Amino acid sequence: MKIEELFHRLLGLGESWEVESCEYSEESNAFFIMVKETERLWAFERCPKCGKDPVACYDHVEPLRWRHLNVFSKESEIVCELPRGECGKCGHIYRVKPPWEGKSKHFTEEFEAFALTLMREMPVKKVGKIVGVSDMRLWRMLLAHVDAALREIFGDHSHSFESGRRVCAPGAVFDSDFEKLL
Ligand SMILES: [Zn+2]
Repeated sequence: MKIEELFHRLLGLGESWEVESCEYSEESNAFFIMVKETERLWAFERCPKCGKDPVACYDHVEPLRWRHLNVFSKESEIVCELPRGECGKCGHIYRVKPPWEGKSKHFTEEFEAFALTLMREMPVKKVGKIVGVSDMRLWRMLLAHVDAALREIFGDHSHSFESGRRVCAPGAVFDSDFEKLL
């Protein structure tokens, strides 16, 4: 099995995405997994504004990166020039959300789950050292999850998000209601 096929399976990309290449960088001591959409993506894509199809490829954004779980004990990142779709009904142009993206947009779902599990057990700074990510980036990720949890409970009201941000100070997460939220 080719390494690209292996990563395709490990990432659970399905028919809509393919691994173009996988490179190991000695300088970064990390794997970079280059992913691209396939034509099949557009068969399943629906406009997030009006919910209609068909949606066609409009263009691609600059390459974005998502930190993923370690591979063979090395850090790994998914790299992708995400496509933007254009709705054939309402003309809305939007960035397609990839299946691997977590809530914070810079980490994969799997990486976020791993980091959040560690954050239940130890201070964020220590988690940052273990996973090789700054604690500020981890706090931003945690806040994105708190925002999503608040949105589920209170609906899309900015007041809820603001109050969530205000009380979610470092150290407050594990001894407040956020434990229930997360
Ligand atoms: Zn639309």
